Amino acid sequence: MDHAGITFDHVRKEYPDGTVAVEDLSLDVAPGEIMCLVGPSGCGKSTTLRMVNRLVEPTSGTITVDGADIMSQDAVQLRRSIGYMIQHVGLFPHRTVAQNVATVPSLLRWDKDRKQRRVEELLDLVGLPHSTYGARYPHELSGGERQRVGVARALAIEPPVLLMDEPFGAVDPQRRRSLQQEFRDLQRQLGLTVMMVTHDIREAVILADRIAVFSEGGAIEQIGTPDEVITSPANDFVEDFLADFGAIAD
Ligand code: ADP
Repeated sequence: MDHAGITFDHVRKEYPDGTVAVEDLSLDVAPGEIMCLVGPSGCGKSTTLRMVNRLVEPTSGTITVDGADIMSQDAVQLRRSIGYMIQHVGLFPHRTVAQNVATVPSLLRWDKDRKQRRVEELLDLVGLPHSTYGARYPHELSGGERQRVGVARALAIEPPVLLMDEPFGAVDPQRRRSLQQEFRDLQRQLGLTVMMVTHDIREAVILADRIAVFSEGGAIEQIGTPDEVITSPANDFVEDFLADFGAIAD
């Protein structure tokens, strides 16, 4: 798998109603790293994430994935080439686990054998053997298992980058920790580049190579390793934000 980076260069997003969600964002996500975006609600994290696969079109500035300008690519093809995972996985309820995982390969008209091999490989990868789980329907799975199917589906075509918006938010806290650990191991093994939005600072600390702390308008207050952000908050904003989550002992 290619290891691709993501670059934002002076990116702005103004919604049609005049809301400026992201004012002037420049940010690099290095190949193979997990970058977590944290910050108060409404500060432009999801907008930032969704601009990468053009679910939201940037108003100005440049975003590249693996060096290629996203605006020079066909939006649908771009979207299919980038893994995207959200809180409520959005599995198709009337399709089996195997069919769900094969969603994008089917859209791309992969032949049956290739699809079958890939689905088996992916289900093994996320610890849900095809023989047991392939023919089940989403309602026959636990929340954590559904989330793992979501991971498998997002990885189906070996995307160079994976975008995740509160991916483990709907999983109960106990399962969430082990799922995070499993995901971290998988990401390392595959060398995936991940951009993740989370409001759970503990999740960011467990998963991230670097954390970007956002304030309103997609402004970056601090960017650094979890250790740097926790032990040396750059300013009062970061300190207050972390304190609200009990991430810093007073
Ligand atoms: P976050 O993910 O940090 O909670 P968002 O990116 O969702 O923030 O939102 C940033 C700002 O843009 C907020 O003020 C939000 O209300 C606004 N916003 C988000 N989506 C739209 C939209 N489709 N139209 C207008 N404003 C929007």
